[in-house]
Amino acid sequence: ERSKLNRLRDAHAATLDGETIHLLANIEGPKDLPAAKTANADGIGLYRTEFLFLGRDTLPDEEEQYEAYRAVVKAMPGKPVTIRSFDVGADKALNGSHSRIEPNPALGLRAVRYSLAEPKMFLTQLRALLRASAHGRLQIMIPMLSHAQEIDQSLALVEKAKAELRAEKIKFDEGIQIGGMIEVPAAALSLGMFTRRLSFLSIGTNDLIQYTLAIDRSDEAVVHLYDPLHPAVLKLIAGTIATGARYSLPVAVCGEMAGDSKYTALLLGMGLRSFSMHPGNILEIKQQVLRSTLGELAPRVQRILKMDEPARIREAVERLAT
Ligand code: PEP
Ligand code: MG
Repeated sequence: ERSKLNRLRDAHAATLDGETIHLLANIEGPKDLPAAKTANADGIGLYRTEFLFLGRDTLPDEEEQYEAYRAVVKAMPGKPVTIRSFDVGADKALNGSHSRIEPNPALGLRAVRYSLAEPKMFLTQLRALLRASAHGRLQIMIPMLSHAQEIDQSLALVEKAKAELRAEKIKFDEGIQIGGMIEVPAAALSLGMFTRRLSFLSIGTNDLIQYTLAIDRSDEAVVHLYDPLHPAVLKLIAGTIATGARYSLPVAVCGEMAGDSKYTALLLGMGLRSFSMHPGNILEIKQQVLRSTLGELAPRVQRILKMDEPARIREAVERLAT
């Protein structure tokens, strides 16, 4: 089965009715580049930079970050590389002085909230990202946004970092695109403030499911309730994809759903054209794409989105893939 999949490595990912689908890799650092290359990924859709920070007592300085980001961009010539600003907090806590006891870490100071609370650390990362952008097609992505003011503050810090680099005569991509993750139901339900401010969106289904269903994604006791096919979750994902299409704003999915072949036909039928996943899943998802006809899937998925009985939804989603 694996060797059969390997033959798809150089196949163009398109549906039977001719629509190109972009299949990108999620990575945690330069160490994952060989896997992304083996799968012939169309780019990096999510670089989880917090893995540079975890399990150590000192934060990496601008130079160390720049080296890591540049290595990833240079390894993907001509391909898009979306690097996420640090998503620390909750299940990815920092060591030592930067951690504190929180009553509810998943609802606390994590991701962009943490970055905005530590603007010096955020600015250092943004400078390193901008410097690396001189070497390829780098895009910056901000995690866990829910308020317009968080977007505005992040964009203001990007502008500040750019102004510093200009004054220091350090090169960066002046046209660099800044995007945001849709991981909080509030974001998925108020997309206008995102589409007006950002250049692309990526749906983080892992957190979107967690926050929609109020299920801690790391708590074994409630894991049986963690359901990607809950009708509320499907409405938020489909609504985000449809809104992106309406405003010509690129939308990707970079949560685990994108790399699970059970959901490929469903996401294609919702209109998704960009999937980012663990590199080991890319060829299996490509196989699903090559078997799919969008013109057939779209109306069937529209009917699924009107259902609210879990067993019927599950059955209809299973039937999509056959
Ligand atoms: C997500 O929440 O779906 C996501 C991609 O981010 P992470 O899993 O790193 O929180
Ligand atoms: Mg997330």
